[in-house]
Amino acid sequence: MEKSEGRREAQAAEGDDLRMAPEEMLDLARRASELLVERIETLPGEDAWDGDFQQELEKQLMEAPPEEGRPAAEVLERAARDILPLSLRLDHPRSFAFISCSPTWPGVLADYMAAGYAINQCTWLIASGPSQLELVVIDWFRRWVGYPESAGGLFTSGGSAASLDAFVAAREAAGHPDRASVYMSDQSHSAHIRAARIIGVKPERIRLLPCNARFRLDLEALKRAVAEDRAAGLHPIAVCANAGAVSTGAVDPLGEMADFCEAQGIWLHVDAAYGGFATVTERGKELLAGMERADSIGIDAHKWFFQPYEAGTLLVKDVKTLERAFAVRHDILQDTIWGANHPNISDRGLQLSRSFRALKVWMSVQTFGMAAFRRAISKGMELAGQAEEYVRESPVLEMLAPVSLGVVCFRVNPGDADLGEEALEEVNRTVLARVFWDDKAFVSSTLLKGKFALRFCIINHTTAWDDVRETLEGIERFGKEALGSR
Ligand SMILES: *Cc1c(COP(=O)(O)O)cnc(C)c1O
Repeated sequence: MEKSEGRREAQAAEGDDLRMAPEEMLDLARRASELLVERIETLPGEDAWDGDFQQELEKQLMEAPPEEGRPAAEVLERAARDILPLSLRLDHPRSFAFISCSPTWPGVLADYMAAGYAINQCTWLIASGPSQLELVVIDWFRRWVGYPESAGGLFTSGGSAASLDAFVAAREAAGHPDRASVYMSDQSHSAHIRAARIIGVKPERIRLLPCNARFRLDLEALKRAVAEDRAAGLHPIAVCANAGAVSTGAVDPLGEMADFCEAQGIWLHVDAAYGGFATVTERGKELLAGMERADSIGIDAHKWFFQPYEAGTLLVKDVKTLERAFAVRHDILQDTIWGANHPNISDRGLQLSRSFRALKVWMSVQTFGMAAFRRAISKGMELAGQAEEYVRESPVLEMLAPVSLGVVCFRVNPGDADLGEEALEEVNRTVLARVFWDDKAFVSSTLLKGKFALRFCIINHTTAWDDVRETLEGIERFGKEALGSR
């Protein structure tokens, strides 16, 4: 296989084997863009999921790296044909499983531009423009969540990293006690259990508390657990609240939890990873009231703010708490210290070398404007509400939790069939498998107080009511067939 003539010439002229000629670079970038735009245009006609078994993929892909390169266009086409499509298409209008994200095109290009400029968003000296822009975007978020001016934060890989950074700050604020304990509801994302483990909280001191019928944390259970643990000599360092629990979208009693944590001197972290951006809409702001009283908030722009992965953020009410927890003087970076108004954002979290994540949010918002984002986020909530109505009117479907922030949990259960829990689970597992194999859509499930639930998360700006309705109709049909064959 031949490398292009242009590349060979450019390399010979520069004595640089990793260089391409400008024409070849442009051709390649053009082809990559064509492939992406074509994909976006044809996506609604495709299945939301594709994948294969490891044995099969290994056969195709396991090979030694070639000693000599091949034509770049060929390599690109192979990636676009054999690797990238084998995935859940999270941006598919019928991708309702887990938490999807449909990135905006300016956001995608922002990642490309940041990579092309070789930005390392670590310190002011090394990236002052990007640092200032991160301050700008974090300031937007600060205003949206209702935080004071003392607040600040940083972009992270996602909600998991945000919760880890938050726990480190919480532990530091508590004076780094030996017998630390943390509290969250049994609906909290596993990321918090992992974050607590990483900072060294013993498994039995990670307290998962029960929820009420609406899947909101039971405040009395929290109070009891904290009192018991204090009596046993433990030192509660953090409470996590859900602002959009991952299974149901439930929002914990944020104001009451803030009252309790303030009185107890315990750090309150709000996990708004997926739900948080609802706060830019009127309705979301009401649902999330009280969030602004937390010590820290994790919120992911790669979920309900339509950005490519990775685009998490951590906001803290007092940015100094983060810097106290993370800033470490490092001799090799001694030239990078500019002073108080020139933060080195790497002093606020785990990462030193960091990609320039703020650019995607900024480019997307500059391009479309906030009104467009508000409408796109509202649409998710409206479609979820319509889906709830549909389920309530359906003779074969049953809601399993109130709709909250774009999440709909339900199951096939014609009341008159009088099936036990086990039989219902079997029927619904069959239905889920039928959607997987026989429908374009991709839907996932969860367990709600022991009940097997089908779950839609509808937060994709490309999703229309027909996408939701037709998928629900499919589920009704598969449900009737599964019931009929019993
Ligand atoms: C996605 C999610 C997380 C984890 O965040 P990552 O960005 O995947 O690291 C935590 N909590 C909630 C509610 C989430 O939706």
